[in-house]
Amino acid sequence: MLAMEPLFIGSHVAADFLNTTLTPRGEAIELIGDGASFVAWLVKAQLLDGEEAARLRRRFGVAALDGTAAEARKLRRWAGDWLGRWRESPRASYEAELRRLNELLGRASSFRELSVTKDGPRLVERMTIGEPGDLLGLVALEIAKLVAQEEPALLKRCAGAECTLWFLDRTKAHRRVFCSASACGNRAKVAAFRERQRG
Ligand SMILES: [Zn+2]
Repeated sequence: MLAMEPLFIGSHVAADFLNTTLTPRGEAIELIGDGASFVAWLVKAQLLDGEEAARLRRRFGVAALDGTAAEARKLRRWAGDWLGRWRESPRASYEAELRRLNELLGRASSFRELSVTKDGPRLVERMTIGEPGDLLGLVALEIAKLVAQEEPALLKRCAGAECTLWFLDRTKAHRRVFCSASACGNRAKVAAFRERQRG
């Protein structure tokens, strides 16, 4: 298994979450393999602030957070499967899926806090994380936002050969087909060029 930094090329946090596992060139990469990397991912995804993350790591401990990361990987598999079907048939009822998602959403409760920084007073929304499993609520909220706010057909998977990455196509013309122009887009261009050379 290769190590690498999380990718944020999905143009939506829910897509970035699905992209925490990837298989470039046939080799599996797991980006949330344990509790520490899952919490670090939540911080990079801006779902959790750094100080709060450090506090939670101390409070919950390694074993509990490792368990939560395992739950997160299950959630990812489930969400990838559901969102794949959702973008094909957005009008289906998805009763069981909504029940599961709403259960997790119940764990994503928040409160407002007024704080004064050097830039002046700021009203910030903070999540209530009472137990490790509540962290899944943060991810569930992003999945719920995707389904509630975005066009199903614009959730796409990269057209690159063997690329498994997801993204939300926010381009004006809705013609984005690759996870990134520099990686898969470039490889496809090179392959097409070689094909022409041969022909
Ligand atoms: Zn790709």
